[in-house]
Amino acid sequence: MSNTDRKWKPQTVAVHSGTTRSSFGETSEALYLTQGYVYDSAEAAEARFKGEAPGFIYSRYANPTVDMFEKRMCELEGAEDARATSSGMAAVSAALLCSVKAGDHVVAARALFGSCRWVVETLMPKYGIEATLVDGTDMANWQQAVRPNTKLFFLESPTNPTLEVIDIAALAEIANSIGARIVVDNVFSTPLYQKPLELGAHVVVYSATKHIDGQGRCLGGIILSDKKWIDENLHDYFRHTGPSLSPFNAWTLLKGLETLPLRVRQQTESAARIADFLAEQQSIARVIYPGRADHPQADIIKKQMAGGSTLVCLEVAGGKEAAFRLQNGLKIIKISNNLGDAKSLITHPATTTHKNLSNEARAELGIGAGMLRLSVGLEDVDDLIADLDAALGS
Ligand SMILES: *Cc1c(COP(=O)(O)O)cnc(C)c1O
Repeated sequence: MSNTDRKWKPQTVAVHSGTTRSSFGETSEALYLTQGYVYDSAEAAEARFKGEAPGFIYSRYANPTVDMFEKRMCELEGAEDARATSSGMAAVSAALLCSVKAGDHVVAARALFGSCRWVVETLMPKYGIEATLVDGTDMANWQQAVRPNTKLFFLESPTNPTLEVIDIAALAEIANSIGARIVVDNVFSTPLYQKPLELGAHVVVYSATKHIDGQGRCLGGIILSDKKWIDENLHDYFRHTGPSLSPFNAWTLLKGLETLPLRVRQQTESAARIADFLAEQQSIARVIYPGRADHPQADIIKKQMAGGSTLVCLEVAGGKEAAFRLQNGLKIIKISNNLGDAKSLITHPATTTHKNLSNEARAELGIGAGMLRLSVGLEDVDDLIADLDAALGS
């Protein structure tokens, strides 16, 4: 089923788009747990390999269940084409490596998910691709970092864990003026709250592990862009290096998409209430929440995002000791470095997700010893607030 006749709303797309049915007419998406495909004749195999007849060849290239997930994500994102990957990092590394070659230069926002930062800072230079990391909230920094060989801008928005927001449309103007491309890691906004392609970005990547699965089950990722970029830059890399998504995980993610709008809306509503509650507590030095008027980039959020966030960043007064005490006092909210789950999860970035950064790099990013990142789940919000209240008093 596809959304060609009229513009379906995201909630309808998330349930129906991309579905193809077998001759049994099953209601739910079929799970095609197969590596290969058989051909009616030797001639049919030849024609398929020549690209003269449609059909699947091998599940490293494409698979019907994975195909449904890609098509549904394309409609949700407003993208022409996509390739689903085994993890979010497989998506990020493929999107970056397929955008540049030796001798090119990349400018990236320094507030990046740890592994994304490793790809840019450590892996790419090994292959002769230089990178400059900047404070991405100030457009002048991007402009200043541009060199004659700058081919790629890379960013997350909102960022992890400080939920900074970068003006994608303004960055697109700089990128277009020098012929560079923009890759956006859109995990924190989800496909519902921010449309980087509409804002002028060229490639969007997700860790589907997060809100898209949303129930803590499997890893997955996806790269979305225009058909030409995927055909010319990603297609062969994808086939021959094999970051493919397993059909089982694609099936799980299709089921996740069905409830994505419902979950994200509820989690955002709860996160907003929790952010307001935390902002009023004496023992909390600072709350950063996209959606609150005191967010440093509130004006950009207003023009760029259709919703806030399911995550709240908080700074506990009293540093690491106080942050650990709060975490250890929680009963419902679990200590875990994951996010986007139905279960509320809290993490202390300085000692977990961002522990590999130098003290200076952490300070630059504003990741203090008392900082915690809370991913709000689907529990009753009053129970979550009571849990935080009790732990703050402990
Ligand atoms: C989790 C995450 C990734 C990596 O995704 P995996 O599925 O864990 O490989 C990349 N970027 C961001 C922003 C993330 O939160």
